[in-house]
Amino acid sequence: MDSRVVSALLADERVAWIVADSRLVVQSAIDPTGLLALPGAPEGALLPDILPEMVGSEPDLESVLRNGSRRFELDLVAREDSLGRPVYLRLLVVSGDAEELLCIAQDATQRGVTRQRLMQSRNELLLAQRELGQTVLSLESANAELRRFNDLKSMFVSVAAHELRTPLAVITGYADLLTTGLEGDLNRAQAESVDIIRQEADRLMTVTANLLDMTRIEAGRLELVLQVSDLAHLTTLVVAGMRELFQQSDQQLQVSIASDLPLALIDELRAKQILVNLLGNAHKYTPPGGQICVSLGRSSDPAELLLTVSDTGVGIAPEDQPAIGTWFFRAKSASQISAQGFGLGLYITRSLVDLHGGRLWFESVPGAGSAFHVTFLTADSA
Ligand code: ADP
Repeated sequence: MDSRVVSALLADERVAWIVADSRLVVQSAIDPTGLLALPGAPEGALLPDILPEMVGSEPDLESVLRNGSRRFELDLVAREDSLGRPVYLRLLVVSGDAEELLCIAQDATQRGVTRQRLMQSRNELLLAQRELGQTVLSLESANAELRRFNDLKSMFVSVAAHELRTPLAVITGYADLLTTGLEGDLNRAQAESVDIIRQEADRLMTVTANLLDMTRIEAGRLELVLQVSDLAHLTTLVVAGMRELFQQSDQQLQVSIASDLPLALIDELRAKQILVNLLGNAHKYTPPGGQICVSLGRSSDPAELLLTVSDTGVGIAPEDQPAIGTWFFRAKSASQISAQGFGLGLYITRSLVDLHGGRLWFESVPGAGSAFHVTFLTADSA
């Protein structure tokens, strides 16, 4: 076939070839697209000189010559073509007629680039995996450190709260002794001062009790003593005990307890704590003259009783509502009414409700009031 015809055919395919004799001397070469970037007249040159990738493969070329059925191949050989562009080649050497070697070069650039990208992506992936591994390790150690700090914090809070209780009990005891007059009569100013000491000591007692409850809840050590009880009666008692508080603030108290309610399965002390917390909050966050309602009845689920404490107080802004009941969180509206507190009561209340197998939720409208709902299991449902 005419060599120009061969060239035209090969150009389409981006293929080149070189024919060499048994001494590896180039006899002819056809490279229509400059794939091999051959020198001007390659004839007479040694094959490994113009294809340096063959250097060291002479024994293989020998064996192709000797054994006509053998072929020798180098894949994805990186070179530059005659225009200086990077190319990847597949070099195939087969034996031709009359002790000749035929070296065919095929453009494999697309495959080579794809493979290179693949390898690059694989390396990046390996690197990312290694970095991820290191991040996981440092996260684990940061977590362990956090757990250690958390344990230390719980221990500190627990020890501090315990240590505060004894001196507080002594202060309360002496304040009570002074009030009885056994140590001599107090004038009005002194009696008022002793009253304030007593009130503040009580407040601190509540704070230490809450801190101790918090550490018990966190450690999973708060256990209930459940018994079959009359929650309606308990609610009446708690409300009666707090009535004076509401009167002092000129707050109207409305109580509605359904008759013939089934008995509930509760820890009486802890259920009382739930009631006191909710009623105490309704009192704190409702301005004087406001209204507070307590209702106890059946829930839509016959296995539950539903307690609701609602007020016409400051309410809670919608953006604050999701965080209500988490540690030490106080809504903006709490400062608006200068109510004392430190944001643990509802966390403990919610935990106590959970331990009772009940649910706690609320609705609130800023400036209009809030309603907190709690469910308790009836004794016959357990
Ligand atoms: P504390 O009253 O000591 O701040 P709580 O845990 O009992 O802590 O309550 C958390 C927060 O929830 C309060 O600071 C207050 O912002 C909000 N809150 C609770 N009860 C009411 C209520 N009845 N009306 C308005 N806000 C309330």
